[in-house]
Amino acid sequence: MTHIAVLGAGVVGVTSAWYLRQAGYDVTVIERETAAGMQTSFANGGQISVSHATPWANPSTPMKALKWLFREDAPLLYRLRADKAQLKWAMQFLQECRAERADANLVQMVRLGLYSREALQQLRADIGIDYEQQTRGIMHFYTNQVEFDAAIAPTERMQELGCERYVIDINNAISLEPALYPIAHKLKGATYTSRDESGNAHVFTQRLAQRCIDAGVKFLYDTDILTLNTDAHSARPHVHSMTIRPKGKNAQTFSADDYVLALGSYSVLLMKPLNIHLPIFPAKGYSATYQVNPRAPHLAPFVSLIDDEFKLVTSRLGDKLRVAGTAEFNGYNMDLNSTRCAAITRRVQQLFPKGIIANSMQYWTGLRPMTPSNVPLIGRAHHGQVRHGSVNTNASFDNLWLNTGHGTLGWTHACGSAKAISLLIQGETPQVDFDFIGLGT
Ligand SMILES: Cc1cc2nc3c(=O)[nH]c(=O)nc-3n(C[C@H](O)[C@H](O)[C@H](O)COP(=O)(O)OP(=O)(O)OC[C@H]3O[C@@H](n4cnc5c(N)ncnc54)[C@H](O)[C@@H]3O)c2cc1C
Repeated sequence: MTHIAVLGAGVVGVTSAWYLRQAGYDVTVIERETAAGMQTSFANGGQISVSHATPWANPSTPMKALKWLFREDAPLLYRLRADKAQLKWAMQFLQECRAERADANLVQMVRLGLYSREALQQLRADIGIDYEQQTRGIMHFYTNQVEFDAAIAPTERMQELGCERYVIDINNAISLEPALYPIAHKLKGATYTSRDESGNAHVFTQRLAQRCIDAGVKFLYDTDILTLNTDAHSARPHVHSMTIRPKGKNAQTFSADDYVLALGSYSVLLMKPLNIHLPIFPAKGYSATYQVNPRAPHLAPFVSLIDDEFKLVTSRLGDKLRVAGTAEFNGYNMDLNSTRCAAITRRVQQLFPKGIIANSMQYWTGLRPMTPSNVPLIGRAHHGQVRHGSVNTNASFDNLWLNTGHGTLGWTHACGSAKAISLLIQGETPQVDFDFIGLGT
């Protein structure tokens, strides 16, 4: 049986392991944490957001970013650092802000999102996995008239792409989510999609990892992957082994037939020595999780929300409310910035003053593996700069596959990306019109 090593046990690695095992492969997942879903998949915003997938790189971002440049609590904070990789990524990001690039990227993300949401729903129906999911849709609400007016055209564009997202008036917004009543007087309008969802990505990843084990997948936790070892003399580049180091033991060699790279923001570091350059940079985000007030649980929202003004998303996860957002470009730094944490709690107290217990907050930070375009890298690895939409003339690796760079929407795109990579490895074409990497070479 073909043996596949999946590198990384975040939501992308674990879903990849699941679909590969279902296709009949012998699968081993290697992860340096003690369990699955402990890094960026740990406490994200929870949204399965197909219809609100506007890429960060769009024509309005550069001006907003400039305005926010020196504000410590800004939704997007770019720390000026003498880091060549960060500067290069920022230049590529600016290129992707052009209107035609932003639209092309949006199309990619919506197609993958629709495919992925369907895969998640199918998986749920097939194996009955429960992960504090809510199927009450996502509402994007606006407290600024200019921003609300500017949302009409993107909403229509989403409809053209097959998303059921509609503009709704304030009364409709409040009747769909009564917990918004305290700020009803500030609302200018909203857009809503009933088909999008939310759920706990960490719970999902851990429960799916257990289902994988039950189905015969092996997990090597507490194991650092140090290098991928390639055959330099072969006509086509080929990975023949990895050097791994289980915690407290010496480094050792591990071999498989194929390798799927799903290391999130850390994917770049293992690829560089192979002369594979992934345009991924960590975009640090924050979340805060609050206990819902047990005496007034209806005053915290069930519909998953996007607060346009503060660029925060909320998801109801059981008896907790998760609030997440903000982006900070500061390398692999994972410090919790108290100003940014306090800004989240201040906003939540304005929105749902009686719905949550404010001092129950648990702050968290994670590194989104961001590509400049927001579009993930899925397909066969090849030498040189890896990017979408370019004809690749460099030699592809026979047995090294990428499933990484999922940025802001890795939870939304995980099942679809995993199903697709499994089909690509089987030599089949996934039923989604997506720009996969390294095909046909
Ligand atoms: C604040 C915030 C809010 C978000 N909200 C949403 C949302 O609402 N909806 C949505 O769709 N997405 C959201 N995301 C994005 C989503 O969480 C990520 O895209 C997704 O978790 C990425 O998953 P991954 O498996 O690629 O990476 P990870 O979960 O980071 O997994 C990679 C794994 O690789 C392991 N690893 C790395 N290097 C090595 C090594 N050398 N050896 C062994 N193991 C290694 C890590 O330990 C980790 O477990 C959010 C992200 C953040 C930060």
